[in-house]
Amino acid sequence: MLKTFDFEKLPIVEIVNEIIVDSVKRNASDIHFDPYDDFLKIRIRIDGELIDYSKVSNNYKRNLITRIKIISGMNITESRLPQDGAIKATLQNIDLDLRVSSLPTNKGEKIVIRILDYSMSAQGIENLGFSDTNFKKVKNMISVPNGIILVTGPTGSGKSTTVYSILQRLNKEDINIMTVEDPIEMDVEGINQIQVNSEIGLTFAEVLRSILRQDPNIIMIGEIRDTETAQIAVRASITGHLVLSTIHTNNSLNTIERLLDMDVERYLLGAALTGIVSQKLARKLCNKCKRKKKTTEYEKEIFRRTLGIDVNEMYVPGSCEECNGGYRGRIALQEVLLINEEIRDAITNNIKKEELRELVYDKTDTITMLQDGLIKVIHGITTLEEVLKLIEVDDNVQNHGANIKIEEILENERNANKNSNMNTDISFGKYDNVDTNNITFKSMNKEKGKNLFAKKEEFIPDMSAKQDIIFDDNDSKKEGKITSFNKEENNDVVLDDNEEILDF
Ligand SMILES: [Zn+2]
Repeated sequence: MLKTFDFEKLPIVEIVNEIIVDSVKRNASDIHFDPYDDFLKIRIRIDGELIDYSKVSNNYKRNLITRIKIISGMNITESRLPQDGAIKATLQNIDLDLRVSSLPTNKGEKIVIRILDYSMSAQGIENLGFSDTNFKKVKNMISVPNGIILVTGPTGSGKSTTVYSILQRLNKEDINIMTVEDPIEMDVEGINQIQVNSEIGLTFAEVLRSILRQDPNIIMIGEIRDTETAQIAVRASITGHLVLSTIHTNNSLNTIERLLDMDVERYLLGAALTGIVSQKLARKLCNKCKRKKKTTEYEKEIFRRTLGIDVNEMYVPGSCEECNGGYRGRIALQEVLLINEEIRDAITNNIKKEELRELVYDKTDTITMLQDGLIKVIHGITTLEEVLKLIEVDDNVQNHGANIKIEEILENERNANKNSNMNTDISFGKYDNVDTNNITFKSMNKEKGKNLFAKKEEFIPDMSAKQDIIFDDNDSKKEGKITSFNKEENNDVVLDDNEEILDF
């Protein structure tokens, strides 16, 4: 249903505020104002899909556009040239960070407001949807003080969120982190961020050369787009710096090939590369209305070929008021490659593409993105349809990889993620990762919509919120509120209902 605004009664200031706040509340990532001959159409993008939001008659079009241009600091007398602007404000207690772009089309000015949302990266890498196995590899990767870590994927695949989450984890007082970005997508306190400005010759390569003279520990490069940047990045990483960057490729194998195409010295790349995280975003099933269905022969075959197991039923979207067509939010499908000695040698020695493929997928325990996606389908987090929309089956390895113990992985994930396929009536809506050796907390604070999983060593409860929790340890459940927490003494947690001390 389209939303309508009473332009006769309400001041334009309020209408624009309402459009922005409402979009943010609906978790939209963008607001589009599309000019037509007779009206202006407003659309919002939620979970990657554009949906119609409102229609504004031409009588009010100019006012609306002008107001947006004013608050985003654009020149309102200029409508024939593209302009960029930004809005930083607090509306109805919501902190807003918006990027605004105006572009003249043949029907008039089109405005797009991009809503920057830091909430995902602020939750930390443990909340980005990595499977237990992959999360361990990522932790492994970032514990090395030098080398290159690449996060890859198409535009809008959540690469920046992953990179910022890693940076936030590495951001300590005694570490000098410097970034070169275009644009700076998120301000991180304690990090030196530099915006590229090619108009005045301040390119990625130029900034990087200067950064190296600023005694950095960690360097983040927004994106590796050209050979020069790739070469500097590789050299920096073998001289004792940890380099983090993104690149526009589909999977680990393509990433290595792309770097080699960029004319980076093979022996340097072989020495430098630490790991590759490839990802894409799939829409997440709404836990409230998802339902099970039997798999067809064709679907069974996909599971069999990719994972080597029989899957007889899976979840499909339903519909309810709380979601968009059975989906709510998104989850990353990932492939994590930790570079080993064999792959290093292969890169250095220029082996054939087919052999490299074998080394990456068949001779390691790498879970391909398709496999990761299908595992998330089995757990009712996303659907087969979503996964197949993002990943071509034929693109991937046909066998299920001799080194992957699928049953074991499934069991681990099942433990780590119990609520998402078992308690389907509870709308936690989040897939988190926990080390199954550690204790899992599940927040029951529905109001906050927060699913509190915590790992032993990192768990810091929010005492002020008096979070209701379920303590879940091998299916024995205890409910209560955390009233005290002592990290020093064996991480004791006291639950207030029975004064019980849970020792872990
Ligand atoms: Zn729903």
